[in-house]
Amino acid sequence: MQIESNFIIEAERCLSCQSVNRKLRYRKLSKLIGLEAQIFKCGDCGLVYSGSTLTDEGATKFYERKHSGSNYAEYAKFDAIKIGQFTSRYLKLERQLGHRPGSVLDLGCGEGQALEAAENLGWDITGVEISPAAVEKSRNKGFKNVFCSPLEQLDDLGIGSFDIISLFDVLDHVRRPVEVLTAARRHLSPNGLLHLDVCDISSIYSLLMGESYTHLVPFEHLTFFDPKTLRATLNRCGFEVLHLGGCPRPVSLDFLKMTLKTFNPILAKPVELLANILPNKLNSMALQIPVGIISATARLASV
Ligand SMILES: [Zn+2]
Repeated sequence: MQIESNFIIEAERCLSCQSVNRKLRYRKLSKLIGLEAQIFKCGDCGLVYSGSTLTDEGATKFYERKHSGSNYAEYAKFDAIKIGQFTSRYLKLERQLGHRPGSVLDLGCGEGQALEAAENLGWDITGVEISPAAVEKSRNKGFKNVFCSPLEQLDDLGIGSFDIISLFDVLDHVRRPVEVLTAARRHLSPNGLLHLDVCDISSIYSLLMGESYTHLVPFEHLTFFDPKTLRATLNRCGFEVLHLGGCPRPVSLDFLKMTLKTFNPILAKPVELLANILPNKLNSMALQIPVGIISATARLASV
């Protein structure tokens, strides 16, 4: 997948606190688009972020091609597991809200797996997504309120406010995380909850893997939060954090095999050997495993 160099934009400042003070941490070649990204650590807030990002048009093309390609089709095999995971996350938010939510906005809704979970719970659903191909797939599932737009441009969509706003594995993909979160703040009901998860650059998993860290994907993952930088970013955007912590994920051997094949072919080999000697039933069984993801729930900070 080639992305023309005019779609690359260099970030001169930290993607969260806007400081220019930074140190180069990694140079990483993107096999997908054939260009190298420089990954920095902010000298002020400590955020690890990519200095090489895609313009809105470049991001639209990038995610369009990803959602049109075979890779996302492979992931679709695991939709049922994902929908189950989103359902339990939304039910937990419902308990925290203390009432049944009327409406949920899923930002970066992709092909609508979280929307499906919320709709099954009887909530009004709205999704926003940058990839036209993913939006079409969501709409084909019958979800009408799905908008194709950069996530920070929510104000242009006339969508009102929501009891729950979720961003599952999305914030680390955007080059303007502060703008996305502040746009989300403007569309959260006064007693609503924002819920998100991101990969954790300070996790043991990341520290052990170093530069081979699965989530260190140039041009795709642009911010690499840890609990401290995620909390600071949420506070900076006018949120009060209610919960922030590790978030186990349902992982099957089949899923692990497929993910590693894409991101870490060396580790994929022993996993494939193990999968070949185990019965199919064990390969597809999903266990809750800590894979270096942080989840956070926040509400509007009182002024
Ligand atoms: Zn910073």
